[in-house]
Amino acid sequence: MPAQNIQNMTLCALKQGMSEKEFTSLEVIETLLTRISEHGGSLNAFITVTAEQAITEAKNADKLMAVGKNKPLLGLPLAHKDLFCTDGILTSCASKMLHNFIPPYDASVVKNLKASGAIMLGKTNMDEFAMGSSNETSYYGSVKNPWNLELSPGGSSGGSASAVAACLVPAATGTDTGGSIRQPAALTGITGIKPTYGRVSRFGMIAFASSLDQGGVFARSVEDAALLLGEMAGFDENDSTSVDVPVPDYLGSINQSIKGLKIGLVRQYFDAGLDDNNAKAVREALEVLEDQGAEIIEIDLPNIELSVPTYYVVASAECSSNLSRYDGVRFGYRAENYKDLNEFYCKTRGEGFGAEVKRRIMTGTYVLSAGYYDAYYLKAQKVRQLISQDFKNAFSKVDLIAGPTTPSPAFALGAKMDDPIEMYLNDIYTIGANLAGLPGMSIPCGFVNDLPVGLQLVGKHFGEESLLQCGHRYQQKTDWHTRVPERFK
Ligand code: GLN
Repeated sequence: MPAQNIQNMTLCALKQGMSEKEFTSLEVIETLLTRISEHGGSLNAFITVTAEQAITEAKNADKLMAVGKNKPLLGLPLAHKDLFCTDGILTSCASKMLHNFIPPYDASVVKNLKASGAIMLGKTNMDEFAMGSSNETSYYGSVKNPWNLELSPGGSSGGSASAVAACLVPAATGTDTGGSIRQPAALTGITGIKPTYGRVSRFGMIAFASSLDQGGVFARSVEDAALLLGEMAGFDENDSTSVDVPVPDYLGSINQSIKGLKIGLVRQYFDAGLDDNNAKAVREALEVLEDQGAEIIEIDLPNIELSVPTYYVVASAECSSNLSRYDGVRFGYRAENYKDLNEFYCKTRGEGFGAEVKRRIMTGTYVLSAGYYDAYYLKAQKVRQLISQDFKNAFSKVDLIAGPTTPSPAFALGAKMDDPIEMYLNDIYTIGANLAGLPGMSIPCGFVNDLPVGLQLVGKHFGEESLLQCGHRYQQKTDWHTRVPERFK
């Protein structure tokens, strides 16, 4: 196998290639590290590259394979969003506040994937504390979209998405609080899945909004997403919201037929905000699924238009509480030259956080304050219940819900930075699943103006299997997911 093909291969293909001795893990890791050093800079996708450690681990993996040892991900490369704590390796959350934070432990997701044999190539860039939809709020600068370097790859897990789309790494972790896996997956033309809330441990995942945050994966095929999800998911006693239900064999069951599967098409998603060509791509994708035996049924989510304001109240409230721990005392950024303790706190937080994070902390503190709690926070929690109930009602009629992932293809860097509301509206189709704790996935379903767009599938709680089966079936009939941006071929 010529070395230049390695970069385009999926995890499943790399695994097979290594087991058939076509190439070694070391060859894979070295090929990708070379690509990261050639292209990583133009995309700004990585904050840290862990080359030395990856090479050592690849050599060990090769030794294990040589004596017939096997593990599900042995010798396979991936990258982690720089929000998952990694033992002894900078974990910055793309914030000046944590620019010097070296965790003394691994997040459970990192630990699980390591135990399965995966090799980390580095930590990916992101929006600061995962707050953003364009990857422009990072302390380390914005990430570029491999399809056009003037465009945003989406956010907040833009570094992971950009690295996978540009074939710097076949898969990467991400987190999704309001769409941060699905939206960048759609805008960069790759597969991204956010599992059910509680499916994947949040232990060691730096908190943004605890009732919404969920870890997941980016990959170049649904099959790879199934492989990785199976290894990272599962009960964790260190996370009180982790749910103790067995992890199914996602990969083993992926070929199941979708004949008779009822897919709900949300009427409200095809409103004025949706780009016509984007809508067309989604409808065409559904025809492919119909040809495979799925039944498309129109459904309503009557309160879904309230999801953006509801989310930005709940998420900001939770973030204002979670981020109060960054006071400069025990770890992270610490201001210099202060008169007293109060000024020390003010300067540390004033200098350590970026503008978007401060905006959220202020909004969150406001909606939780005594005089406004009932009017905003409590109201938002009630609307959250209504939205969850809408999904529940819909799932009494259908097995899956389908729609667009984003209103339009990738937008220009800088285009929405001065208008937070405009930026927030980009999450209109993804936020509902987070508010209701449901699993969601985006898969590439076509191109609009030469830019990829995504089909979003949302499942029932712990219904990841049917999402994956449906997505896999689609990818067997289409080749959108195999396209690679010209300059990264
Ligand atoms: N774009 C949303 C926000 O800014 C979602 C971010 C996320 O999912 N982490 O909050």
